[in-house]
Amino acid sequence: MKWLSKRYAYPMAGLAILVSVGLQAAWLVQLFDAQREQIKRDLEQSVSRAASMNDYLSVVHGHEKSQNFRNFFLSPEWLQFKQAFTNMRKRHVSGRFSSDLKDDSTIIDISLRIANNQTQPSKRKVIRSYDIGETQASVEAGDRRDLIRMDSLVKVEFDKNQLDVSFYHVLYDYDTGKPESHALYNKSQHADYRSLLYSYNINFFFHNYQLVVPSVSKVVLYRMRYYLISSFLMLALTALAFVFLFRLISSQQLYTRVRLAFTGNMTHELKTPVSVIEAALDAVSRYQLYRDPVKLENYLEISRSELQRLNMMINKVLSLEQLDNGEIVLRKELYDVQQGLASMVAAMQLRNGNSNAKIYYHPSDEPCFVDGDPLHLTNVFYNLIDNGLKYSGTDASITIHCSAEEETVSIVIADNGPGIAAIYREKIFERFFRVPEEASTHNVKGSGLGLHYVKQIITVHGGTISVRSEDNKGSQFIIELPAYHEI
Ligand code: ADP
Repeated sequence: MKWLSKRYAYPMAGLAILVSVGLQAAWLVQLFDAQREQIKRDLEQSVSRAASMNDYLSVVHGHEKSQNFRNFFLSPEWLQFKQAFTNMRKRHVSGRFSSDLKDDSTIIDISLRIANNQTQPSKRKVIRSYDIGETQASVEAGDRRDLIRMDSLVKVEFDKNQLDVSFYHVLYDYDTGKPESHALYNKSQHADYRSLLYSYNINFFFHNYQLVVPSVSKVVLYRMRYYLISSFLMLALTALAFVFLFRLISSQQLYTRVRLAFTGNMTHELKTPVSVIEAALDAVSRYQLYRDPVKLENYLEISRSELQRLNMMINKVLSLEQLDNGEIVLRKELYDVQQGLASMVAAMQLRNGNSNAKIYYHPSDEPCFVDGDPLHLTNVFYNLIDNGLKYSGTDASITIHCSAEEETVSIVIADNGPGIAAIYREKIFERFFRVPEEASTHNVKGSGLGLHYVKQIITVHGGTISVRSEDNKGSQFIIELPAYHEI
């Protein structure tokens, strides 16, 4: 399907993720604003409750048992009434509340003073009158005490409503409306939230109280935590789903490419020996070579070695099937790695005949014994040396080292070939994998099975194989097998 190709799929997926992120962000911003407003309402309610409670506490003495009394001061009507009274200052009206105990009731006197000219309240000269027994100092002390109580009542209300915010207050002169501290007043202008003005003691009416919260973002984010987490999870899951989908598509594409390449390579690998044998037998009968035993022997030798190659190919595929299905049965015995390598090197040198390729073997002074299957381990050495010769071209030079330590036997097979790029060094051990032709300097046919087989065999022997390589400076395959120990 053309529209599924990466060219279209990646931008489409990118767009889908961008749109989801955009929608989520818009929704979260809206939610943030709504929560912010809600928190401001909650803050206002908490301050007004604290102010009502403070009013009540300032006159409760002697009325502790009266539910009516309590209900009145904590009612929203009282609050509205008092706020209206406070707000009237803007209309050049000022006034006082005073409360008194008479028999079994509390009398609250409200006096209003309406200015007869238009002077600003702040410019008016206020003459404070004190009740009997009150002095400037006693009023100030009482006001300070009630202010402390107001702050702690606010804190209690905040805790009740889970409003974990830092706050401070600004005081305004009750009569003139002027802030007590200009520094605090100026600072409060940049705050996220400033409450309405509340008086907090109906005996003194000395100050109005304004609560200031510099920032409500922390609480907003805390309240939105579940939405934020679920949005984030949704986006992460969507992105993850896309990643998995693309990986799947890529591996499917790779698999299809590899399968096609494998079929082509295998056909070549299988057809070559068959064609060579066919040609050899054809030559024997056409030129009646049975009359020339030397030539006949030569042609038979070629056919035999091609048949051997064919047999090895078939065995490789069959063993791999067994290995992958976990059905391989190893015939383990005490195996002398040095001897195995030496006879393999001799056979390969013979096979190479008079080509320029060289194989150097450096045996170890220490004995190198492992507990292994001779057939499979010899195949491993064959594959690695054969690859070295195949990929290093006519002037191939293969160097083989074997060494033994207490616990491990190490075999290093190095060549002077084209090397393997870093991105392919893990992949070459995968089934069917071949370095893509456009990325390699060689054009050698193969099945992509050899190194997979090698790795599987080394692994079932409890060993490891790794490759070291630099571009154009050859490759080194390093095998480490557990050394043989008598039990
Ligand atoms: P095959 O040789 O049949 O293709 P292998 O599994 O033996 O399959 O090797 C996998 C790939 O690793 C090869 O296609 C080749 O690109 C790369 N490779 C293996 N050995 C060497 C080497 N000695 N030098 C360079 N490339 C190598």
